[in-house]
Amino acid sequence: MGMKSDIKLIDDNGLRIDGRLPNQLRPIKMEVGVLKRADGSAFIEWGGNKIIAAVYGPHEAYPKHVQEADRAIVRARYSMAPFSVDERKRPGPDRRAIELSKVISEALESVIFVEKYPRTSIDVYIEVLQADAGTRVAGITVASLALADAGIPMRDLIVGCAAGKIDDVVVLDLNKEEDNFGQADVPMAIMPRTKEIALLQMDGDMSYEELTTAMDMAMDAAEKIHEMQVEALKRKYIEEVDENE
Ligand code: UDP
Repeated sequence: MGMKSDIKLIDDNGLRIDGRLPNQLRPIKMEVGVLKRADGSAFIEWGGNKIIAAVYGPHEAYPKHVQEADRAIVRARYSMAPFSVDERKRPGPDRRAIELSKVISEALESVIFVEKYPRTSIDVYIEVLQADAGTRVAGITVASLALADAGIPMRDLIVGCAAGKIDDVVVLDLNKEEDNFGQADVPMAIMPRTKEIALLQMDGDMSYEELTTAMDMAMDAAEKIHEMQVEALKRKYIEEVDENE
């Protein structure tokens, strides 16, 4: 982000390097229930990102001192596979992964009815198999599906979506080149039903007006992504019914 370069990110027709319009998402595919032994799981392909999420819990929280007497704790772990990025990623959590795990945990916690499960932990594993920018928001989106698949009651499915600024234009859903050479990236997590925002970060710079445009774009996109989530959950449910008949 913010790297000065002569790379043109928007062409004379107003299109981006991958041919998208400013307010266009990358292609997204979701699948629910991809792992047998997790309580809930899901897989997402979002542009060049491939991310799997698995949920374990609610289960009694250990060590005991982390337990909360009146609610469950939500522990998300964001992790990038060594082969997920251009340059081999050293295994194990780095500062970035620790930060992302924290903000993702907080975003997910805001939609889960944690008060239903005192003294327990809900563990969410987000494994990035291939990264192409926007992994934290794709991770939140797929984690939300895994939580639903685990039967954990939530106020809403939560949707992650980023918007930003490249070549002085506000755009939706930055890819890797746009993230590297663009001016700003604003990852958000949105509850589509109430339009509440559970995560808002900003890398780079944009004006207040540009930020509100970016937020509006992400809100509209969140509704579309939410529909895809619902469809993905229905597909799994219909398959289960078919198998049992
Ligand atoms: N990235 C990388 N190596 C790293 C961290 C990130 O190559 O150690 C790439 C990866 O493609 C990631 C992108 O940089 O998706 C943008 O990273 P950022 O920290 O902005 O988070 P994200 O946009 O994935 O939520």
